[in-house]
Amino acid sequence: MRIGIIGAGQLGQMLGHAAADLGHRCYFLDPSAHPPAATVGPVIQARFDDPVALAILAEKCDVLTYEFENVPVDTLVECADLAPIYPPPDALRQAQDRLAEKRLFGHLEIPIAAFHPINSAADLEDAAESIGLPMVVKTRRMGYDGKGQAVLRDAGQIADVWQELGTNALIAEQWVAFDYEVSAIGVRNADGDIANYCLTRNEHAGGILRVSRAPVEDAELTARAERYLRRILEHLEYVGALALELFVVGEKLLANEFAPRVHNSGHWTIEGAETSQFTNHLLAITNKQPGSTGNRGHAGMINLIGDIPDAARQLPQGWLHDYGKAPRPGRKLGHITVVAESGDDRDRQILEIIDSVTPSTRPSGTAT
Ligand code: AMP
Repeated sequence: MRIGIIGAGQLGQMLGHAAADLGHRCYFLDPSAHPPAATVGPVIQARFDDPVALAILAEKCDVLTYEFENVPVDTLVECADLAPIYPPPDALRQAQDRLAEKRLFGHLEIPIAAFHPINSAADLEDAAESIGLPMVVKTRRMGYDGKGQAVLRDAGQIADVWQELGTNALIAEQWVAFDYEVSAIGVRNADGDIANYCLTRNEHAGGILRVSRAPVEDAELTARAERYLRRILEHLEYVGALALELFVVGEKLLANEFAPRVHNSGHWTIEGAETSQFTNHLLAITNKQPGSTGNRGHAGMINLIGDIPDAARQLPQGWLHDYGKAPRPGRKLGHITVVAESGDDRDRQILEIIDSVTPSTRPSGTAT
């Protein structure tokens, strides 16, 4: 089949590799001149809101999908009569607005931290009063990797935070002193078949994912996350891969956000699962049965951010994925995956790699 992918970043590149293995051909749309996915298929260079370029892509393809969340949904919907679009644009619409997303979690009885919509500095005062400080103030739209966020620790900062972010619609969330973060990734096809990956534990720094580890060996927590994920997948009549990010706080499991696409915290599935999230996303959007999501061992993934040092190319262990992007501070340029026979061995390998590759990726709480 011909698969049209909106966005040609590293997620598109990894989808392109999986598509080639399944015998599909990918076409991309992306505004950048040399995006990572140009190595796996032709790219129409155009803005994401260019209706003509989107229509050309849709006409070329049997099915459309997206690897980038900030695609204008209305422009996307205009292509729906040219080719089916999965995941459903309504899922994207809800994920694009943190307020709509929180309300969806509430409707589905998925626990979340207290929140407050913010349209004025006075709303920030009300939120500080009702939620308590500290709280995290986030733009409702277009945020990623911690961008468009500020932590408000005392009421004296309200004017500054409003000054910094107030030109956008905002949401304030209770600061969650979580024990750790996890993500639950699942896939669903149009027939309603669902498959879940094991729970993944994630470590962020500066809002950017640094390290993922799978599986989280906690059957009850996994089952709870899967129940929440299933509610979302079924409610949205979802088709494709979806990642639900959650905070673990004591006995509580609180949803933070969901991504209606393949996800960085699922990169380990390429080597660490029997079927990768990329293959399963493509199987879902072509209405095939999901492949086995079973683990091949204890997997770890280390993001390479800002640069890929030579040491990363000479490691005795792991798989290096170089997205072919130009180095830039804070930019995800690649990742390394390890798969080990035990969690301890996996963690030892992660630390060895971090030590030789990039101290900036060092997870918190480890020796410097
Ligand atoms: P987000 O863009 O919502 O995924 O936030 C990026 C990262 O910031 C998360 O993965 C957390 O590490 C942190 N974060 C976001 N929201 C909160 C919160 N309410 N409390 C504490 N940390 C948060």
